[in-house]
Parts: sequence; C-alpha cells; structure tokens
Amino acid sequence: MELEKNTLYLVTTPIGNLSDMTPRAVEVLGKVDFVACEDTRVGGALLSRFGIKKPLISYFEHNKRDRGETIAARILAGESCAMISDAGTPAISDPGEDLAALCREKGIKVSPIPGVSALITALSASGMPSGRFCFEGFLSMNRKSRREHLASLEHERRTMIFYEAPHKLRSTLADLLETFGDRELVIARELTKIHEEFIHTTLEKAQALYETVSPKGEFVLILRGDGSEPDRPLSRNERYREKLREKKEREES
Ligand code: SAM
Repeated sequence: MELEKNTLYLVTTPIGNLSDMTPRAVEVLGKVDFVACEDTRVGGALLSRFGIKKPLISYFEHNKRDRGETIAARILAGESCAMISDAGTPAISDPGEDLAALCREKGIKVSPIPGVSALITALSASGMPSGRFCFEGFLSMNRKSRREHLASLEHERRTMIFYEAPHKLRSTLADLLETFGDRELVIARELTKIHEEFIHTTLEKAQALYETVSPKGEFVLILRGDGSEPDRPLSRNERYREKLREKKEREES
C-alpha cells in the first residue's frame, strides 16, 4: 500500500488486547513520516511491540492548540502523519477530534484506519437495542453542565452509551439514577482484557453493588432508552422518580 503525502491518518489501536491491532494499522504506522500520540510513552511502547520506530510528537488536551498547528504545518509541507490515541479509535472522546477538525479546516485529507472502539464493542454484546442508539461520551466534571446534559436525555428513547472512569463511577451512577429512575443498565468493564465483564443490572442495583465493591478498570455504561422495555417500566421509572422527589421533600422539611 502506497501512503499519500499531505495526509493525516487516524489509526485505531487496541483497547486492551493487542491482537486487535489490524495489519493495516501496523502498515500505516510503519510508513508515515511521524506519529502524533496522546502520550508518547504509551504510543512508543505500542509501536515497539510491533517493531516500529518512528519520530513521535505528543498531542494532548493541554498542548493541542499549538501542537495542532505544528502538526498541520508539517503535513501541509509534505509529510504524512498518523494520529493514535491511548486506546481505540482516535477522535472518539479523545483529542484526536480536534486534530481531525483542524486538518479538515485547512483542507488536509484525513483518512481513517478503522478498528476497535469501546462503545461499539460494548454495545454489540450488551443485548440492548442497537438499531438506534446515542453515544454521550463522558459526563462533564462540572456539576451544572452535567445536570443539563442529563436533563436533555430524560426522555431519550434510544439506547444511551456513556464512558466513565473508575473514580467517577459512583457519582455517575447516582446522577443517572436520579435522572432516569431505576432503568436497565449494562456495565461493560475491561473490554477485550483478561477481566472483561458484562454486568446486566439496573441503576439501583448497580449503585448498591458499587457501594460495597470499589470500581476498578475502564467502564462503558449502556442504558436502556425511555419506554423501550418490554414490561412498560416507563411508568415504573416515573413512580421511582416520584418516590425520590417525596423522599427529598421529606428530608428538606
Ligand atoms: N477513543 C477510545 C475509543 O474509541 O473507544 C475512547 C477513549 S476515552 C479517552 C477512554 C474511555 O473509553 C474509558 O474511560 C472507558 O470509558 C472507555 N474504554 C476504553 N477502553 C476500554 C475497555 N477496554 N473497556 C471498557 N471501556 C473502555
């Protein structure tokens, strides 16, 4: 395969199991002029597992503005660049999104080298309706934006997918329960790794579970959409929210 110059390749890397690296990803990484990665230690270790040596340049949340310009200038000057993130598909809930947008803006060709992504891996095996779904990424750390985000989803009928870090899982489960009531939830943990786990549960049971178990690993949360349960739990959700409101009122009075 001949690589094109003046191109940004978004190269997908495994989310845990190195065997998920595609031959095309290895080929492209071996042929580009340089590789942009979120963390050069993580990127460098991955490349060396596949016997690839390339100049690396870091591109992450806090240097993305300047670094994006540098990378785009090098591509415009004739080089080809591969962007890899710490795991999975670049630009899905990671800084690759901004680099892809910047390059598009500057008329640079952006070419995807596809592979695994945590959200699709989780959804595919979750047993939740997958005909229509929405990916909600990470909830904001900021309480107000978090609440606004969740409020905008209150009547969402599609299956909802969230990413979450272990240290925020408990508070996210509490916020989801408060917004949606006791809905069906699938927790997909440590996908493609030795301790991969799918927990088919509900928001209330998940909250109880993680009161006793400390959340470890990486999580994808898959939440059933409003009114899509076969046993009409929409009214059950509403009853649950009502109970919660009454409890709050009692506590406040
Ligand atoms: N670009 C990546 C993708 O395509 O999936 C996602 C990057 S985002 C910064 C990292 C989040 O993805 C984690 O916090 C977690 O929610 C999810 N994730 C990544 N790897 C995972 C895995 N092996 N198991 C479960 N969730 C994972």
